[in-house]
Amino acid sequence: MKPVEKILVVGGGIGGLGAAIALRRRGFAVDLVEVKPDWTVYGVGIIVQCNVVRAIAQLGILDHFLDSAFSFDNVSIYRTDGGRIATIPGHRLAGPDYPANVGVSRRALHNVLVASAAELGASLRLGVTVETLNDDGDGVDILFTDGRRERYDLVIGADGLFSKVRGLLWGDAVRPRFTGQSVWRYNFRRRPEVDHLMSFTGPEANAGLVPLTDELMYMYVTSVEPGNPRMETAQLPALMRERLAGFGGLIGELREEITDPEGVVYKPLEVVFTPEPWHRGRVVLIGDAAHATTPHLGQGAGMAIEDVLVLAEELERGGPLERVFAAYMDRRLPRCKYIAETSIQIGEWEMNKVDIDRSPIVRQMLELTAQPI
Ligand SMILES: Cc1cc2nc3c(=O)[nH]c(=O)nc-3n(C[C@H](O)[C@H](O)[C@H](O)COP(=O)(O)OP(=O)(O)OC[C@H]3O[C@@H](n4cnc5c(N)ncnc54)[C@H](O)[C@@H]3O)c2cc1C
Repeated sequence: MKPVEKILVVGGGIGGLGAAIALRRRGFAVDLVEVKPDWTVYGVGIIVQCNVVRAIAQLGILDHFLDSAFSFDNVSIYRTDGGRIATIPGHRLAGPDYPANVGVSRRALHNVLVASAAELGASLRLGVTVETLNDDGDGVDILFTDGRRERYDLVIGADGLFSKVRGLLWGDAVRPRFTGQSVWRYNFRRRPEVDHLMSFTGPEANAGLVPLTDELMYMYVTSVEPGNPRMETAQLPALMRERLAGFGGLIGELREEITDPEGVVYKPLEVVFTPEPWHRGRVVLIGDAAHATTPHLGQGAGMAIEDVLVLAEELERGGPLERVFAAYMDRRLPRCKYIAETSIQIGEWEMNKVDIDRSPIVRQMLELTAQPI
């Protein structure tokens, strides 16, 4: 079988750009296509936990990344009235001089990923995607939507929850499903006490505060939304305040500041788990295209970055693609499955108003994800 030299990455999200960086560092030729015409990113910010800080260090971009992020070590869990339940220290997995956890705006993270991928020599094309894909065993012929044709040794589907690559190869059988919950997010000027991730939980609702920069933080709250109703933009602030009605303490105080309809980022939670293996012929799926879950453990982007590190490492090790893909599945399936299933389970407990103690779940997740990938 022809060795892998030239790779197409479909999707310029966290996983796709991470793949471009990891593969260029190992000398592979990388073309990346992103369907959106510019690098706009949806959402507010993300939590980057210990294992993901380590993964970003392995991508070789941690110092650059930390310049535009907020570093912290602990995660605290509170009741909905604001009383503290537990503080869980994170592990400094990237080394003693680096933080355990980081909060970062999606925009800032994307800026670092795009700049690093471009600097390393990946070809990044916007506003283009794959029209057709023909894998003859020795290579994959791609017709792009702009009419260009190109042949690749490997195609990586990094095109997210509604992956077109997955659709072309797995068909309609693998489709995202709405879990019954949504998440609401809103940015605020950071309060001094929000210098780490603060999670507020109770049987009625779950919210949190995440620092993003010295000036900025965001709030999230999950809600049960039977039937996945369409939300009118003008109504979003009032609806988000309504979802926060049961909270006292800091969340209760901040609730009244939610007034800008354009500032509320509302997202129904949808999940998909592609049946293993996540590869067919010379095409492989990573990140949300393979295993999109809910954000209850804040690990989705982390799993995408870990996927690309493992895939790049196995490609560099060489040998037939069957070996590379088997090693990729062995190393990624158990962890991604655990994160996907545990996240969905927490959402189900929330929907059924089961008052769970999150501390052991978070501690277990931190222990498991601290293991080498
Ligand atoms: C509300 C919410 C909060 C979250 N919070 C966290 C968190 O705190 N921490 C964390 O680690 N994770 C979090 N996640 C999960 C995280 O956002 C995802 O797991 C992560 O973005 C997956 O990366 P990806 O690159 O696989 O997919 P995406 O980020 O979805 O990127 C896919 C890219 O492919 C592009 N694309 C789509 N179709 C095509 C096509 N046909 N051709 C070319 N390009 C295409 C898209 O435009 C996009 O740029 C959260 C998710 C949600 C919904």
